[in-house]
Amino acid sequence: MRMTTDALVLKVTDTGESDRLVTLLTAEYGVLRAFANRAKKINSKMHGATQSLCYGDFSIYKSRDSYIIDDAVAKEVFFGLRSDIEKLALSQYFCSVASELVPEMEPARDYLRVILNSMHLLEKQKRSNDFIKAVTELKFMVFSGFMPDLTACPHCGAADGDMVFSVEDGCIYCKSSGKKGERINPTVLAAMRHVCSNPIEKIYSFSLPASDEKRFAYLCERFLVSQTRINTKTLEFYKSL
Ligand SMILES: [Zn+2]
Repeated sequence: MRMTTDALVLKVTDTGESDRLVTLLTAEYGVLRAFANRAKKINSKMHGATQSLCYGDFSIYKSRDSYIIDDAVAKEVFFGLRSDIEKLALSQYFCSVASELVPEMEPARDYLRVILNSMHLLEKQKRSNDFIKAVTELKFMVFSGFMPDLTACPHCGAADGDMVFSVEDGCIYCKSSGKKGERINPTVLAAMRHVCSNPIEKIYSFSLPASDEKRFAYLCERFLVSQTRINTKTLEFYKSL
């Protein structure tokens, strides 16, 4: 079986003297681990396209129990991210989350679009790292079936006002319900609703005052970490910078 797809390189592991094991986020086949033989050689035509954070067109075939990349052409290498340790660490965190949340052998074009858009925005430096991080985390959660219910308090139907967000329950409650949760003001609630309900091309098009942006970022991260139990090594590294 031969497969052709565009994909982002999430992770690269060197194997043997000159080979690479590449974890790809593909548009057509979800997360896929494939060998790129001789790709470590500097004169290999696949050398550039099989580096981490490289986006390109891949041709892959299945050989017994493993996948082999036999051609790869880079379309975007994100040079601007490689020279900024924080942006690089944040991109690697996105890659790590994608490799855990995206299923294998299922189309993942939406995940791919969001991660590529986020990396472009990081590169252009038009939005803060925290803003891009929060939007990416929340939209990934929506794609993975963890859509929070932000409509109204399930007890009394209150949709605004003094609310809390329960990262464990994935929903909002009014203060008078007595339910425990993280404080969320109407601006931050509107931001989370915006990301959840809009198509990808609109999810970044809003802004928040700095203090609300911080809260928005805090809540999106807490929600993802609490619901998915992902490995948080790359997240901790980003936050340590
Ligand atoms: Zn209520």
